[in-house]
Amino acid sequence: MAHTTIKYRDVPALPLPAEEAAPAAPSLPRHSASSVSSATAPGGLVIENVSKTFDPRRGKVLDGVSLHIEPDSFFALLGPSGCGKSTLLRLIAGLEYPDEGRILLDGEDITRLPPQARPVNTVFQNFALFPHLNVYNNIIFGLKAKKTLNAKSLATVAETIRALELSGLEKVFPDQLSGGQQQRVALARALVNQPKVLLLDEPMSHLDDYLKSKVGQDLLELQRRLKTIFVMVTHDREDSMTVSNDMAILHDGRIVQQDRPRRLFSRPNSAFVAEFMGKANIFSAKRSQADPRHAELPFMTADSGSPLPWETALVLINPDSLLLEPPADSEGLVTLTATVEQARYRGYNVELLCSLRNSFRGEPGAQAFSRLQVLTPNHAREWAPGEEVTLYLKPSELVTLESQGDRPAGAGPAPDAGNGGPAEYGTA
Ligand code: ADP
Ligand code: MG
Repeated sequence: MAHTTIKYRDVPALPLPAEEAAPAAPSLPRHSASSVSSATAPGGLVIENVSKTFDPRRGKVLDGVSLHIEPDSFFALLGPSGCGKSTLLRLIAGLEYPDEGRILLDGEDITRLPPQARPVNTVFQNFALFPHLNVYNNIIFGLKAKKTLNAKSLATVAETIRALELSGLEKVFPDQLSGGQQQRVALARALVNQPKVLLLDEPMSHLDDYLKSKVGQDLLELQRRLKTIFVMVTHDREDSMTVSNDMAILHDGRIVQQDRPRRLFSRPNSAFVAEFMGKANIFSAKRSQADPRHAELPFMTADSGSPLPWETALVLINPDSLLLEPPADSEGLVTLTATVEQARYRGYNVELLCSLRNSFRGEPGAQAFSRLQVLTPNHAREWAPGEEVTLYLKPSELVTLESQGDRPAGAGPAPDAGNGGPAEYGTA
């Protein structure tokens, strides 16, 4: 029987509000259509096999990075500190040039254009406001430098100041502004140029939790209204997931996965991505010698319904896949007995840390101790440490992150190899 892969529950991209549903705040001017787009090239921002080395002894900072960022995207590039995020932004902005590869915007090759010749503006991590200029002069700085200060661009400035709620602050100097206000000035200074791409380097890293959520909402609203491509880089997975409709993970200068936030979160394609997305519950699994449909985890055996396409694998159990009530569809259901060690109340749901003690089949006498993170919406109930609970898991909810070894003989065609996305356990 062939290994059948379950279709991911399809998650729509962020809905773009209808024109009339847009918030009543002053609207920012829209950009005219590109005059350079060619008939065949894809629109949006295309990064093609871009590499960059600063110091040859330290190797490539970016190593064959390819991304296609669709028009209208709020794209988030997520990765640990030092992985090359700011470098990629600097290449898009024209502040550095790649050693290899191309950058295309709406079909036009902008790889070698100087920064002022590309319709790209940046909000830097430290905002980089001019301390000796007041808010207004900071905002018009770029227009002045480009000698494009005229009645039309001044109208855009006025509108941008209103839209970003900076009215009344025009004469104030940067050191008298709060962090959130400085950020809005930096945004205004970038947006008055009406860029096709706005680059945001760690825009929320300076903000406390309350401001973070407000700034996140404002950025999202702004992006939807302007239809400009926003490219945000961050090391914070929550910041990236809450605002973006497309995401990629950068690790050691390479893109390891690009997907919509929800799918990246629920279907990571490697242990690195899973861990970076904050996942616990990653276990090694072996294909059973006795039955190739069975995956043996340290504390359970799961029947995938069809022969497993690997010998050993790392598998992820999403914490919300572990149910405290048996589901209606009980085919192949795995039942586990666990002890609650800790219950953490997180508002609308509860995170339970549970321990399991089961003998590892195939290794007689060996005892494996495993800890499971369980997320349940049942926050009305008290969970006491030491309490015994029964957990239910559908084998189809297991996510294979990385696998090794061949398919067993006669197991049907091999599934797609490579980085095309995470494999899942099949159902018959
Ligand atoms: P991130 O923004 O993800 O934290 P960066 O892109 O700033 O990472 O830096 C990635 C790596 O490239 C770091 O090791 C950094 O030291 C190095 N790097 C960045 N810019 C330069 C530069 N201009 N010269 C030399 N090394 C650099
Ligand atoms: Mg950086």
